Amino acid sequence: MTTAFTPVPLGLARGDTNPRLIVAERFGVEVPTFQGEGPSCGCPALFIRLSRCNLTCAQCDTKYTWDWAQFDSRKESTKQPVTDLLAWAASSPVGLVVITGGEPLIQQRNVAPLVRGLLEAGKQIEFETNGTIAPERALLVDGVRFNVSPKLKSFGVDEGKSIVPAALQAFAASGRAVFKFVASSVCDLDRIAALADAHQLAPVWVMPEGTTAEAVTARTRALADQVAARHWHFTTRLHVLAFADARGR
Ligand code: SF4
Repeated sequence: MTTAFTPVPLGLARGDTNPRLIVAERFGVEVPTFQGEGPSCGCPALFIRLSRCNLTCAQCDTKYTWDWAQFDSRKESTKQPVTDLLAWAASSPVGLVVITGGEPLIQQRNVAPLVRGLLEAGKQIEFETNGTIAPERALLVDGVRFNVSPKLKSFGVDEGKSIVPAALQAFAASGRAVFKFVASSVCDLDRIAALADAHQLAPVWVMPEGTTAEAVTARTRALADQVAARHWHFTTRLHVLAFADARGR
């Protein structure tokens, strides 16, 4: 049995300049790596993975951020001050910081000071988000992009929870988002087209589902022709191909 979303006790007022974030892991400084997906695939990147999610996708590959029936939240997450995260990121020359999860926008109020500090340090930021929570204005600034990944029924989630029209439209209107759909088969492509049409989502990116090189390769070959025919973008999962989906890469 999976555990549903538990509200995060943020307890911090707006304007707090050094709040703490609930972090699952951070990586890319000690052992360098790449952004593995989306428009920046292949770019050197640092990763801050925030803990907690508001969905419970059966195909989720980061259940250690939310599934407390399988994982121990006390072992899988720590509260880290924004200043510590900034010092960690500043210790690397890498210019791209990926803030992911879980669902990072659950903590967006306390993420805003992190974003400000990273931008002041000259970093660029990409959020990996499931697109269910509209971004606050503080995050809609130059240097910040959103890879929005609405989850389909085929990913093992109730679309009544994973498709939030108001949030999707807010991302689309921001001009700072791409929409990156995970596809398990060509059957998903019509659903992606329907969602893109209904909510004016563009540009559309498709990524093959899979946590092994064999699965990613097989789905790439199954999907590529029809994704190209729709004039959409395609991304692989470089971290799966290069590092066998190891944690911290
Ligand atoms: S939205 Fe992402 S992190 Fe959350 S359960 Fe689904 S796949 Fe996992």
